Order: sequence, then structure tokens, then C-alpha cells
Amino acid sequence: MKKKETIPRERNLTIRQELMHLLAGQCLSVSLLSREIRLSEKEIYSHLEQMQRTGILNITPARCTGCGYLFAKRNRLKKPGKCPQCKGTHIEQPLFSIATGR
Ligand SMILES: [Zn+2]
Repeated sequence: MKKKETIPRERNLTIRQELMHLLAGQCLSVSLLSREIRLSEKEIYSHLEQMQRTGILNITPARCTGCGYLFAKRNRLKKPGKCPQCKGTHIEQPLFSIATGR
């Protein structure tokens, strides 16, 4: 088994750049980002959370497919497990994009 290495700073920067590139002008889900960048969803979320703190992240909130409830006020990025309105569990994933300010 390979020795576990700490992730170098450059790799982090590259991931951020990849994320920025992928999210510029389109809304993507974390599962898709995870496949594109080949990182676990957990890691993608941690990058997105940092981007959210810097204010460049646009979030299309998760939505319940059962009743249409929007999880708009949710601060956490992860997909909610259950709808508070109809208790349904068919929730659309939130989508992310970045603000390309000019
Ligand atoms: Zn619902």
C-alpha cells in the first residue's frame, strides 16, 4: 500500500482552479463535480464551502420533487435528507456555479 501523503498546496490550488473553470457559467451538482475532478464529494464540499465564504459561489437551492419545496434558506451546502413540508425524500441536488463578476 502506498504511503499516504499530505496534499500539497499546489494541488489544492489546482482543484480550486478546476472548480472555477467548471462552474463558470454553468450550474453543476456536487456529484458531477466529484466525477469530473475525481475527488470525493466530501472534498468538493469543503472546497465549495471555502468558495462560499469568499462570496463567489452561486447556489441554486435543493428542491423537493414531491411538493416543490425550496431549501432556499439553507446555509449548509449538502443536499438535505428530507423535506420538512411533505416529509418526502426525493430531493433534487443543489446546483452550484460561480459569480463571474465584471
Ligand atoms: Zn416536499
